[in-house]
Amino acid sequence: MVVFINLEFTLYSILPNKHFLFSYQLPKHLSTLSNQILSIKQEQLDLAHKLKELHNEDYRPDNLPTYQLGQLKKGILCPTCFSLSHTTTRQNYLCTACGHKKTITTEIERSTKELKLLFPDNLMTTNQIYDWCGKNYSKERIRIILKKNYQSHLSRKMTYYSKK
Ligand SMILES: [Zn+2]
Repeated sequence: MVVFINLEFTLYSILPNKHFLFSYQLPKHLSTLSNQILSIKQEQLDLAHKLKELHNEDYRPDNLPTYQLGQLKKGILCPTCFSLSHTTTRQNYLCTACGHKKTITTEIERSTKELKLLFPDNLMTTNQIYDWCGKNYSKERIRIILKKNYQSHLSRKMTYYSKK
């Protein structure tokens, strides 16, 4: 079967096909699978182990366009409509374009992951995330979020963060 896991992927004009599985069909398919008593062959186990072994969490395509941090607009982008326009309350972020609402903490965490994805080699610091999020949120708040999610390191009078 070909499994399309991207939630936003749609293939139009296709008749129901038992060889294709779309993201919306996955929960039912997985529940059906787990209800079946299957005998797993050694060959299948070996394949599963091999796939797990080959999984590369740091994969980066080699055909990305070149970009630099200074060229990019700063601020938290709405994950739904990619607008930079938003308002905030003490705890929440609200996109003024589409109404997407999440906690500010969630949005800072997401933006931090996006920055790390775009610049995997940069040292992640509070100041860098502060700038990346459009200087809209206090450095203290950002420091607390980074400390909660990442391992902190002290180097040349600078604290930077990496994966725990
Ligand atoms: Zn939005």
